[in-house]
Amino acid sequence: MIQVSLLGATGSIGQSTLDVLARNRDRYQLFAVSGYRRLNELLTICREHQPQFAAVPAPEAAAFRKQLREAGLKTQVLEGEQGLVAIATHPDTQVVVAAIVGAAGLLPTLAAVQSGKRILLANKEALVMSGALFMQAVQEHQATLLPVDSEHNAIFQCLPDHFGSQPLAEQGIEKLLLTASGGPFRGWSAEALVGVTPAQAVAHPNWSMGQKISVDSATLMNKGLELIEACWLFGLQPEKIEVVVHPQSIIHSLVSYKDGSVLAQMGNPDMRTPIAHALAWPERITAGVKPQDLITAGALSFEQPDEEAFPCLKLARQAFKAGGTAPALLNAANEVAVEAFLQKRLGFTQIPELIAEVLHLSQPQPVNDLDILLSEDRRARELAKRSLAHFSKP
Ligand code: NAD
Ligand code: MG
Repeated sequence: MIQVSLLGATGSIGQSTLDVLARNRDRYQLFAVSGYRRLNELLTICREHQPQFAAVPAPEAAAFRKQLREAGLKTQVLEGEQGLVAIATHPDTQVVVAAIVGAAGLLPTLAAVQSGKRILLANKEALVMSGALFMQAVQEHQATLLPVDSEHNAIFQCLPDHFGSQPLAEQGIEKLLLTASGGPFRGWSAEALVGVTPAQAVAHPNWSMGQKISVDSATLMNKGLELIEACWLFGLQPEKIEVVVHPQSIIHSLVSYKDGSVLAQMGNPDMRTPIAHALAWPERITAGVKPQDLITAGALSFEQPDEEAFPCLKLARQAFKAGGTAPALLNAANEVAVEAFLQKRLGFTQIPELIAEVLHLSQPQPVNDLDILLSEDRRARELAKRSLAHFSKP
């Protein structure tokens, strides 16, 4: 039995992971879970899967412990960030699913890497923030890093086996094609985007996801973060990664080889596919996903992203090029901006403006250790919150 720790069990990726685990009970056991809000849902998960550990925020721990006892469950409660790190590094767990959203996932995800686990990475923000530090730790501790983000998982599936042993250019790879659905506002002009509401922004045409990534998909910051994620995962510069808008979300990304071959990974837009792939790799397990019906899918189309109306993609590319702490600053400013947008304190088109202002006001630092990342993350958040005051309310 393979023991799985699931960070962010109550989220969208968390739920999809639980579904895949439940379909493969002969191979996998849920060892530990974490939740942040919606602890009633975490209790339901504990009832159904009976994990050994549950990590919750410290102020909630006593009440949650009581609820578990009253339900007759033996799950032990761990508290706060230490609790997250404990379930990510426990010697009895082999697989860690990193499905916390945002910078909050960095510490436990990196701790799992440093414990040499098999890490299923959904929490792209952790890698975007820590880049080189993260990848060095993967090498040093011989962790197995498998992408769950559907695009990166698709690329992973289209690359030669053991691609990590040599630079991709030496393996006949010309470039990667990262697909984007274009989000709910594809084709909208910059002027039309001014009045966009949070309800419109979180209504993604193809994928059902958490609120933050849904807004990121609408601004194209999700693709910007994914571009940086791909640079680190596959050891490439952004020039070697082309973003292609593909509104049907049937092709999840492609690899272009120098002999003219282009390999694509396809399937219904359902995160259970990349989760199951990363769980079982190099084997295959059932994921509960409907087989792809190409006739029903109909025509597949492709277009260029509109970087003028959606400047977040450009900002992400610039931050990667600037290096050091710049991607962490970009990520922190984006998290503050998205939160403010969801609370109707910032307009949709002000999201990239706020991020640009934070990047403009900050000098990126070299990343020598985790401490500099955490302190720069805090500083960028404070700066972003202060800058919010300069923006007129939508
Ligand atoms: P979500 O909002 O549905 O769930 C987030 C999870 O993180 C929840 O379990 C929540 O309790 C936990 N969490 C939130 N803040 C926390 C904090 N401060 N401390 C500890 N835990 C906290 O998000 P999601 O859509 O499941 O996305 C999770 C991650 O996966 C994100 O990084 C996202 O970019 C990535 N991802 C998601 C999808 C998708 O389809 N949902 C696809 C690709 C990548
Ligand atoms: Mg993705």
